Amino acid sequence: MSKNSSTKEKVLGTNCFNCKYIANNNEPVLSQELNSDGGIDPKNAEAMDRAEKADLITLPGGSKADATSKRFCYNKKIEMYVTVRMCCGYWDNDGVKRPWKKQ
Ligand code: SF4
Repeated sequence: MSKNSSTKEKVLGTNCFNCKYIANNNEPVLSQELNSDGGIDPKNAEAMDRAEKADLITLPGGSKADATSKRFCYNKKIEMYVTVRMCCGYWDNDGVKRPWKKQ
């Protein structure tokens, strides 16, 4: 479901599409689903609450044209559709080095 752990991409910036919790498959996204910076705003109060706790954001400076697809986030604390223009406090990737942890 989540991104293949063998992926060794060079990550230059963090966003939902290079996070380990993201689905592998792109799904079509309608322009009406997107906010003006190319993210997807939570659809109801419960989703808005999860988004607030996670600090799920739309990155600044983009546009609807930057988000040509959406993917599902399988993080149990999110479980929403997101775009490449988004990120949250749970972002992680299997290639991340954490020098304070034994590898
Ligand atoms: S919403 Fe957070 S956990 Fe989900 S894919 Fe985006 S950065 Fe990762």
